[in-house]
Amino acid sequence: MASESVVIYWLRNDLRLADNPALTAALATGHAVLPVYIWSPEEEGDWAPGAASRVWLHESLKRLAKAYEALGSRLVLRQGDSAETLHALCDAYGTTTVFTSRRYEPHALHQEARVRDRLKGEDVTLQVFNGSLLNAPDAVATQAGDPYKVFTPYYNACVKKGEPDEPFSAPQKIPAPKQWPASDALADLALVPDHSWVEKVRQHGTFGEATAQELLDTFTDDAIIDYPELRDRPDVSGTSGLAPHLHFGELSPRQVWHAASAYRLSGEDARPGNEAYIRQLYWRDFAYHLLYYFPNTPEEPLKPMFAPFPWVEDDEALQRWQRGQTGYPFVDAGMRELWETGWMHNRVRMVVASFLIKDLRIHWREGAQWFWDCLFDADLANNSLGWQWVAGCGADAAPYFRVFNPFSQGKKFDPDGEYVRKWVPELAQVPDKYLQTPWEMPPIELAACGVTLGKEYPHPMVDHGEARKTALAIYDELKAAK
Ligand SMILES: Cc1cc2nc3c(=O)[nH]c(=O)nc-3n(C[C@H](O)[C@H](O)[C@H](O)COP(=O)(O)OP(=O)(O)OC[C@H]3O[C@@H](n4cnc5c(N)ncnc54)[C@H](O)[C@@H]3O)c2cc1C
Repeated sequence: MASESVVIYWLRNDLRLADNPALTAALATGHAVLPVYIWSPEEEGDWAPGAASRVWLHESLKRLAKAYEALGSRLVLRQGDSAETLHALCDAYGTTTVFTSRRYEPHALHQEARVRDRLKGEDVTLQVFNGSLLNAPDAVATQAGDPYKVFTPYYNACVKKGEPDEPFSAPQKIPAPKQWPASDALADLALVPDHSWVEKVRQHGTFGEATAQELLDTFTDDAIIDYPELRDRPDVSGTSGLAPHLHFGELSPRQVWHAASAYRLSGEDARPGNEAYIRQLYWRDFAYHLLYYFPNTPEEPLKPMFAPFPWVEDDEALQRWQRGQTGYPFVDAGMRELWETGWMHNRVRMVVASFLIKDLRIHWREGAQWFWDCLFDADLANNSLGWQWVAGCGADAAPYFRVFNPFSQGKKFDPDGEYVRKWVPELAQVPDKYLQTPWEMPPIELAACGVTLGKEYPHPMVDHGEARKTALAIYDELKAAK
């Protein structure tokens, strides 16, 4: 084997063929390419993929392996130590270059450094490419050379850098080594948790590069026009649903940027949704910018003032929140949607997060961990940003004194109650007037709709008005102690 010229392409969160700079560079060598994916959850520390992510990963690898086979190649699967696995493969094939895509999470940067060191000792070069962000985190800085902590100036600086390069096309063929190394079977990786819940959520996944591309095409052909008006409405499909595809790299943000911008410059065809949508892609980049410069933010508040917050430890309350049994229909609808589908609408994510942090005063980290396990799109940068934003303790966060009102948010963003009726079917017969506040309905009328509070549907677990006052009083104390 050692006489053959083979380069290794180490796949990470770049599970696609098109617009893949690392794969493109590996192919440009003209050598045979050996694609390998290494499952090494222990190298991801406390943030190894959660249950929903593991299901997605399994399905995505399955589809990608077929796509490789169609190009005359294979996807080699391994598990264990990344550095040792790559080293052994380089040794077996006499390989001198390994190509890979950079991941910017702290544990992944550490993993990359370990791999680089291990390979360097053997005179193997690790070539690393950014295929997951429009701008690498350290490619954008303030005039003083510091990281940005506020989104709008960050976004303006990105816009000034100009358009991202055009995406690369997918290869037509991938030259294969004459002899393949052993590969684990996908099932050997045991990614899919043994739980009846898996079958339920699996039906809602749109796994793989081909489906991602279809979703992107459909969204940018049509729905993007109404994105500014509909993006906050959980009762309609107003957003793209691309987050898990971007997280696993089944699509690159550059592909999404170009598809979304396609009509932007063309006069009467200009689409109002483009700008609003593209801004969200930069929020994603901004989340990585923050995680890169403030690597403790998955665990610690960025603003130290919030560190001594007197969090409540209450497993029963946490469980009621997780199960969608808070007695606030909009919150419960969101939590049940998450459990049933592996996804929750962004507006509802904000409301349920605010409820956990400010009404129940349970640590945002508990919420972040539940999301981590249940979301198909669980992403360390976006999740940490989202939770710290709602808690008011992160960069460019909502001010702490902004407490989302769980019933007025429901009335505003689910005006016909379709979202609540779908996910909290026991309230289906309750009229719009009381749907978000069933405790205000006279009990006899509520019973005529099939609901007795405390039986079919719970009483509100806290009084929102009182809980809000308590949270704000604590905030005032923290501010005074600063
Ligand atoms: C508490 C909380 C936790 C969150 N956890 C995650 C998470 O783990 N993973 C995740 O991808 N997003 C997370 N978000 C951000 C956002 O809710 C999701 O990205 C969005 O709902 C995904 O749906 P979509 O793909 O239809 O988004 P679209 O509205 O279609 O947006 C397009 C893309 O832009 C990016 N994007 C959109 N909104 C945001 C945002 N607020 N911050 C960063 N990027 C954004 C996503 O990649 C998304 O796919 C979280 C938000 C909150 C409030």
